[in-house]
Amino acid sequence: MSDLRELYQQLILDHNKSPRNRGALADADKHAEGYNPLCGDRVTIHVRLENDRIADLSFEGDGCAISTAAASLMTQALKGKTLAEADALFETYQGMVTGEPDAPIDQDRLGKLAVFQGVCEFPMRVKCATLAWHTFRAALNDGDTATTE
Ligand code: ZN
Repeated sequence: MSDLRELYQQLILDHNKSPRNRGALADADKHAEGYNPLCGDRVTIHVRLENDRIADLSFEGDGCAISTAAASLMTQALKGKTLAEADALFETYQGMVTGEPDAPIDQDRLGKLAVFQGVCEFPMRVKCATLAWHTFRAALNDGDTATTE
């Protein structure tokens, strides 16, 4: 168990305890709800776009520590990004959590999201870590629900 891994766990616990960007979002123009039946996680994502940029976003919902921390860190990572950047980040993140535990990752692009690399060892947890992201994409596509199944 490395110090780095411990630091990562602290970050997840912190975001679970004090989630960022949680709540309703005034003037949001995109919304979707997501559900992960395996764990019981529920999340709603609100997005406000300005042209092709994510001006603001927030989440609501209840779930396990991983799903809440993942939603919180996702909102921080995506705020201000263009839709193309958000797509690229999703691909990188998805590749990480479904990849090998010791695979090289794009730390510059992922930033704090790198804390979720450890979930790739726990297939059940991958769905917790990606629920908010799938729901975000459903919101952009004007879908109203997303599920990890
Ligand atoms: Zn969960």
